[in-house]
Amino acid sequence: MSKFDNLYLCPKCDYVGSITDDKLECEKCSHQGCYVARHINEGTRKFWIRKEQNSSGWRFEKKIATMYKDGLPHDKNMIKQFQKTVKHIFSQFGQHKDDLENIFPEFIRDYKRTTGRRERGWRKNISAAKQVRNSLRGMIYEGAVNHFTNNLENFEQVRLPIPYVDKNGKDREFEPDYWFHFNGYKIPVELKTYDKGRMAPATIKSGIKQSRKYGNLSVDGNPKKFSGIIVCNPEDRLFSCIIMDENIERLI
Ligand SMILES: [Zn+2]
Repeated sequence: MSKFDNLYLCPKCDYVGSITDDKLECEKCSHQGCYVARHINEGTRKFWIRKEQNSSGWRFEKKIATMYKDGLPHDKNMIKQFQKTVKHIFSQFGQHKDDLENIFPEFIRDYKRTTGRRERGWRKNISAAKQVRNSLRGMIYEGAVNHFTNNLENFEQVRLPIPYVDKNGKDREFEPDYWFHFNGYKIPVELKTYDKGRMAPATIKSGIKQSRKYGNLSVDGNPKKFSGIIVCNPEDRLFSCIIMDENIERLI
């Protein structure tokens, strides 16, 4: 057993501490329901840092917006602001090449072990979408993107799941990755990371479906049911994004 095997990661304040009981309570902010922390092996982390340092810049892929151009919202300014913010986020990788050591996360959430812990005393389940296994690299990059959104005024990392009641009256929860704040709207945004060659129309479509689900669930501050998606592929150095409303649903 390594010294990293018994740690939790607080979703609310990012604190990492030692697990003492199954409530997984944060000793810094008292949040109950932290995640079991998964430590990223230092060699692996360094490998991805070096790879990012030696890679060319990220390129914006126009294809997705073109593919769905007949289903995009009418608010051109919103589309522009969203795209501008996402482009800014990805430009940060190149501007922080010497600082990636502090940006690529050391710990990520271990959903599987967390669920195991919570079966023994925790009341909530983790939303199914969050449990889908991403590649380790995907999770590292998501941590880095989270870092870059921290100082943005119009982007906010969603740290805790949002409860809702489904059509059968069952308590459920969902958890978008970010809120995009625009003109008083609070729009849910999903971030999807793909492996080489996997950022293809069919996989993007399933991401869009998930984004629409969250758009329809995020009733608070989102009367027009907007939703956004950011897709990226670290190896192919491509990223893209679209913001959408119900209009797109006839195309997916
Ligand atoms: Zn905390």
